[in-house]
Amino acid sequence: EAPSEPRSGRSAALRARMEERLLGARFRYLNQQLYTGSSQDAARLFRADPAAFHLYHRGFERQVRRWPERPVQRIVRYLRRRPASLVVADFGCGDCTLAASVKNKVHCFDLVPLSPRVTVCDMAKVPLVAESVDVAVFCLALMGTNLQEILGEANRVLKLGGTLMVAEVASRFEDTHAFLKAMTQLGFRTVSKDLSSSYFYVLEFAKTGPARPGPAPGLRLRPCLYKRR
Ligand code: SAH
Repeated sequence: EAPSEPRSGRSAALRARMEERLLGARFRYLNQQLYTGSSQDAARLFRADPAAFHLYHRGFERQVRRWPERPVQRIVRYLRRRPASLVVADFGCGDCTLAASVKNKVHCFDLVPLSPRVTVCDMAKVPLVAESVDVAVFCLALMGTNLQEILGEANRVLKLGGTLMVAEVASRFEDTHAFLKAMTQLGFRTVSKDLSSSYFYVLEFAKTGPARPGPAPGLRLRPCLYKRR
């Protein structure tokens, strides 16, 4: 800070800095809650406090802006290579960047509407009939601890042979091999995996049939906790 800065300017700058810190702390706290609770807990949290959701999204935007590429752009590129007639479901759509970037019909699901396109619901229970979509997308959205239930819902709404796209933070994968093996039990065959980025993985699956019940022990992702900066 310039020593000649007037006192009022200095205190405004100090206040802005403290507000930033507070927002950062609240973001990290909310983020931790989302990754350590079930999707139903997340739904309750944001229903009770929609302001928390907007704060979460500001924090999320700030994090992702630092990355060399936004994962959602990878999904956009993927969809543009495939027929625009494919029907898509975007689980945890955020600001609906995906729907706004492709010609496909995209069903957008999130807990609070950041855009009028959003259907508000818990991603573990979306208002779509069984086997009605061609592509299901989870882009940085596999947050709840009830992963099996969430991916089971994607399986339910996907047509046989339909595509499941997952983009997730690389450091969340404890054991990628075990994760992919568990996915076969959930009725998904691995079509391609791009593990080349140190920021995020992009996995493409095809639905082989309904999810088989019973535990899928390899289906684990570490919470994505952001460090204080
Ligand atoms: N896919 C978007 C947003 C990722 S942030 C993108 O890539 O830009 C993760 C999103 O998942 C957030 O918008 C969050 O609100 C949403 N989400 C988390 N838990 C959810 C749940 N149980 N049901 C629906 N959406 C959920």
